[in-house]
Amino acid sequence: MTHVVIIGGGATGLSAAFWLRREGVAVTVVEKGIVGWEASGRNGGGATHAVSPLFAEEQRLWPLMDELLGYPTEYQRQRVRIGLSRAQLDLILEGVAIARRQGFIAHELDNRALRELVPFVSERAAGGVLLEYGGHANPQRTLQAYAWAVQDSGGVIQQHTAVGGFETAGGRITAVRTDQGLIGCDVVVLAAGPHTAQLAAKLGIRVPVAAARAEMVVTEPLALIRFGGADGNGVYGRQTLRGNLAYGGGAHEWIDLPDATTPRPVNSPVMQSVAKRVHELFPRVAHARVIRSWAGVVENTPDGRPILDRLSGPDNLVVASMSSVGFGLSPASGRAVAQLATIGRCDFADLSQLRLSRFDGLAADWQHQMGWVPWVHPKEAAA
Ligand SMILES: Cc1cc2nc3c(=O)[nH]c(=O)nc-3n(C[C@H](O)[C@H](O)[C@H](O)COP(=O)(O)OP(=O)(O)OC[C@H]3O[C@@H](n4cnc5c(N)ncnc54)[C@H](O)[C@@H]3O)c2cc1C
Repeated sequence: MTHVVIIGGGATGLSAAFWLRREGVAVTVVEKGIVGWEASGRNGGGATHAVSPLFAEEQRLWPLMDELLGYPTEYQRQRVRIGLSRAQLDLILEGVAIARRQGFIAHELDNRALRELVPFVSERAAGGVLLEYGGHANPQRTLQAYAWAVQDSGGVIQQHTAVGGFETAGGRITAVRTDQGLIGCDVVVLAAGPHTAQLAAKLGIRVPVAAARAEMVVTEPLALIRFGGADGNGVYGRQTLRGNLAYGGGAHEWIDLPDATTPRPVNSPVMQSVAKRVHELFPRVAHARVIRSWAGVVENTPDGRPILDRLSGPDNLVVASMSSVGFGLSPASGRAVAQLATIGRCDFADLSQLRLSRFDGLAADWQHQMGWVPWVHPKEAAA
């Protein structure tokens, strides 16, 4: 029987494992820490990626996931997007037009209609849009659900096991080298988030991604709004079922990839800026205190799109790097990865624009050219 080894127990790796087990394929997920500890368990929970070739599948699958997985993800369909200014609203409508062209429905809202749906929104808001698609889920619940579903169906999840390299023979990977020993494989899925680049480099493959830190703040619980997902003003997020507003956003901060599993602590100016923009969006609940905040690390490709590709050399390697949009897309990306691992292609979406080869010829110093480099204090730089 084919044995697929998946490196990375985040949303991408676990979803792929889930779909592979549904096909009866033997799966081992190797995770250096615990499942969902990195970006996958720390994100905004948004599932609205209209520019992705996986958008239709993302939207089709989310409403089915609780039943398929057998555990709750707290997925809620629909989302309200708010424009505080006309310019913000126009930008939202540009995104909506992309979804509408694919057959998805959205209703434009004036300030009054907006406030009926989101009572604490600013009275100054130019308007909003109610999306009859998109939506959001609870990342931690979802990751737990994926992991339990994989285990329930006979998949193996090996936590606290770091992959350090590969054994190869005849142009194929024959085993994954871990700090607990070798794991033999027929196919390898590399879904290690920001660490995907370092691991691919061990096979002589360049995966161009830059690591960045993103942050979230969480308020104390408030009265529940209807759809849970309402955002705008440069922040994304949702209201939890308990009533907390959980929001992130703004410019990501480029960082050197930390070796440690836990990203560095939050940075108070970033956190304050997110909190300030949530306050501008929802002035009626500006009294709500921020009770939690955290940071997570995401990887970003030069064009902002994921890399989902079965390579030709080694020909049993699938690269799955989601470039900051990997939570919402995970039901669909995992299904696509499972197909790449088993039949070598995806039969429900055109993934040609997500091939790694689109970056052939990319300048070696692309990160510097784009300005995607960590800031170094002048004193440290001079030392
Ligand atoms: C604050 C924040 C908000 C976000 N908001 C959203 C959002 O609203 N919607 C959305 O779709 N996306 C969002 N994202 C992005 C999303 O979280 C990520 O794109 C997605 O979680 C990536 O999942 P992944 O499984 O590919 O990678 P990860 O979650 O990074 O998982 C990779 C796993 O690989 C493991 N690993 C790494 N190296 C090794 C090794 N050598 N051996 C074994 N295991 C290894 C890691 O420990 C990790 O668990 C957000 C991210 C952050 C940080």
